[in-house]
Amino acid sequence: MRTKIVAGNWKMNLTFEQADDLVNEILDYLKDNPTENGVIVCPPACYLELASDLAFESEMFVGAQNISQHASGAYTGEISAAMLLSMDVNYAIIGHSERRKYFGESNEMLAAKVDQALKHEISPIFCCGEQLAERQQGNHFDVVKNQLQESVFHLDKVDFGNLIIAYEPVWAIGTGENATPEQAQEMHSYIRSLIRDKYNEEVAENTTILYGGSCNPKNAKELFANPDVDGGLIGGASLKSDDFIKIIEAL
Ligand code: PEP
Repeated sequence: MRTKIVAGNWKMNLTFEQADDLVNEILDYLKDNPTENGVIVCPPACYLELASDLAFESEMFVGAQNISQHASGAYTGEISAAMLLSMDVNYAIIGHSERRKYFGESNEMLAAKVDQALKHEISPIFCCGEQLAERQQGNHFDVVKNQLQESVFHLDKVDFGNLIIAYEPVWAIGTGENATPEQAQEMHSYIRSLIRDKYNEEVAENTTILYGGSCNPKNAKELFANPDVDGGLIGGASLKSDDFIKIIEAL
């Protein structure tokens, strides 16, 4: 059976002290409220070691927000999969729409990042999702299909089994306008059908598909109640422990 997960994408926010406090607050909660669901925090790269040290032997996992498509070498400013693994970072967000938009990350580059992550036992949280205009033109299913085909469907069954998908409609990210539970379920079910067609029923049923885009303590329960929505990738609402914990409790 697939694991339900709540993952926090802190983006470029918080000071060292604030990051320390937030991780400790989440860890305190998990100590008193053990869960079989997955809880992942994805802080900025400079706080990954702090988070993974604090999370040692806890129920919380740590993810990066990005990963280099290269193994090592003269790539100033980049962070490799091997470096992340050496800090006990077990997940990496790959293909976030902000990386696609501001840093020109193409589907082809993302496929290389996915390969690097998997080579180093880091599970990609692969983001896909359409722009508003693409949805308005009725192209949202094709856009998501193309993103999956070009960045992750080259994987074999075993590698694909280590992947988490996050459906994040771009128009819902940071806008306060979440997809309706019906829109989320419709796309998640479509994504699962693509995985079924590409691999098989078992792989499809075992794949965790997260929803991301203005998910908050008020709407999380309704979104997560859908059969194909296995949790959330949370941006703004992951920066306050109270909100993030309420979303964990909505699983
Ligand atoms: C995100 O950036 O992945 C995200 C879902 O952001 P927000 O929750 O703020 O919309």
